[in-house]
Amino acid sequence: MVLTERVKVKALLESGQAGSLVVAMGWVRTRRGNKNVSFIALNDGSTINNIQVVADNANYPEELLKGITTGSCIGVKGLLVESPGSGQRVEIQAQELELFGTADPETYPLQKKGHSMEFLREIAHLRPRTNTFGAVLRIRHAMAFAIHKYFNDKGFTYLHTPIITASDAEGAGAMFRVTTLDVNNLPRTEEGKINWSEDFFGKEANLTVSGQLEGELGAMALSEIYTFGPTFRAENSNTPRHLAEFWMIEPEMAFYDIVANMDLAEDFLKYLIRYALENCKDDLEFLNKMYDNELLERLLFVVNNSFERLEYTKAVEILEKSGQKFEFPVFWGADLQSEHERYLVEKHFKKPVILTNYPKEIKAFYMKQNDDGKTVRAMDVLFPKIGEIIGGSQREEIYQKLINRINELGIPEKDVWWYLDTRKFGTAPHSGFGLGFERLLLFVTGMTNIRDVIPFPRTPNNCEF
Ligand code: ATP
Ligand code: MN
Repeated sequence: MVLTERVKVKALLESGQAGSLVVAMGWVRTRRGNKNVSFIALNDGSTINNIQVVADNANYPEELLKGITTGSCIGVKGLLVESPGSGQRVEIQAQELELFGTADPETYPLQKKGHSMEFLREIAHLRPRTNTFGAVLRIRHAMAFAIHKYFNDKGFTYLHTPIITASDAEGAGAMFRVTTLDVNNLPRTEEGKINWSEDFFGKEANLTVSGQLEGELGAMALSEIYTFGPTFRAENSNTPRHLAEFWMIEPEMAFYDIVANMDLAEDFLKYLIRYALENCKDDLEFLNKMYDNELLERLLFVVNNSFERLEYTKAVEILEKSGQKFEFPVFWGADLQSEHERYLVEKHFKKPVILTNYPKEIKAFYMKQNDDGKTVRAMDVLFPKIGEIIGGSQREEIYQKLINRINELGIPEKDVWWYLDTRKFGTAPHSGFGLGFERLLLFVTGMTNIRDVIPFPRTPNNCEF
């Protein structure tokens, strides 16, 4: 069979001409039939839908037919015909079959359907072959594409911020060290401390927790930029919403205040969800049917309603008056936990919420200080089922205010001199935010564990594949 003659299953199902001779290749989902005829459901990952292949058993050697079991890989050449059965427009009447690879039914882990998500995580190398992960991975791709399209259409520049960084001023979480030193034989200074000046970069280095600080440098020249790359947090939080390696989208815009920042975040999220509804129909319908009957309804609701905007102080009042028993106490100054965020979104407002003006103590040093001396111009976007999906702020652009805060927090100036330079040379009001890509995917797919929306999740004690 000529490999280049292959047509994708999606194209065959959607626009293949009945009567034409076609070649399809893919993995066998099931083979049914009797001693005369085989019905093979074939999937190549281009769509959640299988194409049915009908083969006359008499035309093929026994040995070949025996190898066509669930999980095996085959090529088929045959006539595309209108399907007499319901559920599909066309099917293939096989004229040639080629077996590329068998999958021993005794040992193939996906022989049966209906495995638990936990089990599938243990076979992350094979789970893309399930309907569920096929759907999730196609949606993941569509969202990545839509993110670039959204910003490109708006004239933002995609900025590649570094993955290895020597700055840990961001304080967004514990970091992973990057070193080429021999851990069994570390160079020492005279005082017995590790001598990092002998390391690869001549100083300590880590994997980035966020591209924001460098993103701001870009915004101070290109005016509107975004980053979209991997970030790493060595936080030992075994929750369904945290990964040690996750992808983040971080737009950063000169001449945006906090309101423009909120407007962008809301428009961006709605655009992405609308894009999924319009372009990932089959996959979303599958997930809606199999996992979460309210998924489509929830997506439509978010697209069609405005987000509630209120201040942190007001939110704390609501939570205090709620009469709810929370695991973590609520009081002014407390960092809101996911249970608080979800109460506001799911019980109180019943829609996405954007909280602003948080106490400065619980937010990063670079956020714009309000005149009250107590709060900063932060904004968190909170979503149903998830809690925080976006964290952002207007940035402090006034040199003196920023340096005062840096000193208050004891951040060494030598670590952030380059960042401070933006406030010395042509400073500008500016804002930005970070969207966790996998949190977005949790919302769009209706999956409930973040490990199930990334191909190879990195979490504490999990780095096998
Ligand atoms: P959380 O309080 O949920 O841990 P955060 O306040 O640490 O989040 P930020 O530092 O503001 O989050 O990061 C911006 C966005 O990145 C968050 O809104 C979230 O969508 C995402 N995010 C943060 N930490 C993680 C993680 N460990 N795994 C996956 N996504 C994350
Ligand atoms: Mn965190």
